[in-house]
This record gives sequence, structure tokens and C-alpha cells, in this order.
Amino acid sequence: MQYISTRGNASNLDFAGVTLAGLASDGGLYVPQKWPQFAADDIAAMRHLSYVDLAAKVMLPFVGGSLTEDELRDLCTAAYSNFSHDAVTPLVQLNEQHWLLELFHGPTLAFKDVALQLLGQLFERFLTGSEENLTIIGATSGDTGSAAIDAVAGREKIEIFMLHPKGRISEVQRRQMTTILAPNVHNIAIDGSFDEAQAFVKAMFGDADVTAKLNLSAVNSINWARLMAQVVYYFWAGLRLGAPERPVAFSVPTGNFGDVFAGYVAARMGLPIERLIVATNVNDILHRALSRGDYSLTEVTPTDAPSMDIQVSSNFERLLFDLEGRDGSTTAARMKWFEQMGKMVLSSDLRKKAAFFSSMRTDADEMAGAMRWAYEHCGEVIDPHTSVALHAALHAETPADIPVVSLATAHPSKFRDAVEQATGVRPTLPARVGNLFDRKERFESLPGEYAAIRDHILSTAAP
Ligand SMILES: *Cc1c(COP(=O)(O)O)cnc(C)c1O
Repeated sequence: MQYISTRGNASNLDFAGVTLAGLASDGGLYVPQKWPQFAADDIAAMRHLSYVDLAAKVMLPFVGGSLTEDELRDLCTAAYSNFSHDAVTPLVQLNEQHWLLELFHGPTLAFKDVALQLLGQLFERFLTGSEENLTIIGATSGDTGSAAIDAVAGREKIEIFMLHPKGRISEVQRRQMTTILAPNVHNIAIDGSFDEAQAFVKAMFGDADVTAKLNLSAVNSINWARLMAQVVYYFWAGLRLGAPERPVAFSVPTGNFGDVFAGYVAARMGLPIERLIVATNVNDILHRALSRGDYSLTEVTPTDAPSMDIQVSSNFERLLFDLEGRDGSTTAARMKWFEQMGKMVLSSDLRKKAAFFSSMRTDADEMAGAMRWAYEHCGEVIDPHTSVALHAALHAETPADIPVVSLATAHPSKFRDAVEQATGVRPTLPARVGNLFDRKERFESLPGEYAAIRDHILSTAAP
């Protein structure tokens, strides 16, 4: 499989190449040259596979040439052995129509582990035997950071620098990153928002001073391998609920449009998905874009679902590229315009092409309401991100014979203050996270200025 850039001006790469590169050199994002297809019979034959075997089947067409099926399965076995549930991503039934897909049984309690545990394995596999060292630079709204750090801490040939917006992530999220004292792990708290942190990271990929010295890679969902790993659980849930005969709808709590884009990929590959519900909190640029064509930046408002406190949704570019005929120059012009103007308009024609997605915005009261509903009606304690998905799912008016799966993206104990406020229940941290609150923290605080961050990274990175 070859990968092409959404901006049409970077060299094509194979799977190993895109995994190590992250962002394309023209500022675009890599996507597969074409979507692999599964016929209904192929999907029916996947019904009895374990999660790991299913993962290998679904991902094999994407890694073609870089790994054999056995190698891929071995990496999946290693990645998913760190999950605390045998089913890896179990489904929980809420009522006749509604389900939760629990994606938080990995080591850092959020769905990011599903992709990043595998990405850690892939990095190690592709670096073994090469002369290369890798410097990972990432920005996190909370969960990517801890999941990425867990996946690469202590690995040889890899160093990781993780930027987080100071004071805007939960204490559990921060401690999960800053208490990892492995020498290859560097946490940086910046004054600013996640969007600013993400912009600094993107700028570093385009900075010749940096790229001349460091071999950069990305762990944000701009990295294709992450999205690929997330496609698997859409198949997993669809199969459990009757695919390929019966279509399923998914409600996805959305920030960077990565998780929901993986659902779109599953649909393009042949999984019958009735619709994808893009669930946002009050940082609703995607809801405005999909419902009325208004993709324009506003200030980020901090919420109880901080991993979705995002305005610039990087992966939306991948969708635009695919919907507008996969023409890199169109996408490049569009994104250039957006970067300059801070806004763009989606024509009604384009919105028609995106009609597979519906969208909903959930405010603070509705978020607390959905957490209470899940607890009082179903006995399930859910986290604020999951509650955004559930609120949208409950209001989406999906036909009664279509099961609706809300993606449960974080364990409630990661956001226990907000959960306790809404439900009166204080979720306890699972034993596998250990004595998080007794451990020593280490991180650097920097102003939200590009030069300061770049200079710090250049002077700290191992030569
Ligand atoms: C990252 C994250 C999201 C948003 O996922 P995207 O892929 O950025 O859309 C939602 N919920 C939680 C808990 C997250 O960590």
C-alpha cells in the first residue's frame, strides 16, 4: 500500500514510511492511495475472530509490503496484552437500542491506548536494525500524552517531547504523564491552549533548523497508523451487533476528528454503518461545519471534557480531501485559505457529500444530564467525554431497528471530580494505575512562544 499526501506535494510513502514520518513534508496528512474493500462475505467470516485476530485481518491491507500478517498479529498480541479486559474493547448494553463501546481498558484509561500501544510496537519494529533515532514531538489535550508516553517510555532510539496546555488538563491526566521519569520522556507545560500547542508542533515539522537536527515523528492522530488501529473497533462492534446484515450507528465524542474519521474509513471499507454522529461539546466547530457549513475558529472554552476542547480538527482535512475528489491542490488551497483567514465555508454540495455524518453539540448541563441518565437508568458511571457521545446518541432520532453505539473513550476515574458532581459517585482509580498521587512529578514550564519551545527541545534532545 502506498500513501499520498492530502496536499498533493509530498513523495508517496509505504506504511513503514508514513508511520515514522507522521506529517507529510508539504504540511498535509497521509492517506492510503485507495481504500481496501471487504465484501459482505469477508466481513461475515470475521465474526468469530478474537480482537487480535480481527485487528490483523482489518489492518493487513494497510500495512502491505511493510509487515507480514504473522508479524502484524504478533505486534497486536503484544499491544493488546496490556489491556485489562479479555475482549479488549467490550460492548455494554444500556437499553434496547443503545450500547457503549468501552475503549478505556488500556494502561492509561483512555481510548488513545488502543492506537498508541500498537504504535509503540510499530516504532520499535521499524527502528530495529536501522541507524535511525526518532524524536517524537506531540501536543496533548490530556489523553494522547499519557498514552504515547506509556507506549514509548524506556524504549531505545526514541525520545518523546510532549506539550500540554498548562492547567487545562485534569490532575490524573497530568500525573499520568509527569510521573513517568524515564530519561527519554520530556513533558512541557505551555501557557496557552491545546490548539496553540498543536500549532507549535506543526511548525516544528516545517522548521528546517529542527528537521536538520532531529528525525521527527508524530503520535498525534495526524499519524496514519493511529487511525488505522482505530478502524478495528468499529468492525468489532459492528460484528457483535449483526454486521454485515444489520447496519449500526456510532456516536463519537469528537475533538481532532481522528476517532470519527476511523469510523468513516470502516464504512469506506464496506462495514455497513447507518450514520456517524459527530458529538462535540461547546467547542463546536465541527457541529457548525457539518450542520451549516461554518468552519470558523472561535476561542476555546475549557469544559469538563478537556480532550475535546479543540477548535482546529486536524483530521477534517482528510475528510475534505476524500469528499472533494482526492485532489491535493484543491485541499492545499482550501487549507491555506483556512490557515490565513481562520475560517472556511463548506458549500451545500459538499455538505450533501458529508450527509453520512450527523452532528450535535452538548453543553455543560446536558453533559451532566447524560452522566446522570446513564447512572440512574442503566447503573453505568460514564466519563464526561462519553456523556457527550451518549447525549448526542439519545437525541439523534435513529430508526428504532438500528443499534446506536456510543464510544466510551475514557474511564470515569480520569475525570472523577466532574463525574462526582454530576452523579454523586466518586469513581475510584483502577489498581493498575498504581500510586499516582504519591509519585514525584517532572516537567518543564515554558511560555507559549515558538522560539522558547523550539530552543528548549533542540538543547534537550539527545544528539
Ligand atoms: C482524544 C479524545 C477524544 C477525541 O478524539 P479525537 O480523535 O481527537 O476526535 C474524545 N474523548 C477522549 C477521552 C479523548 O481522549
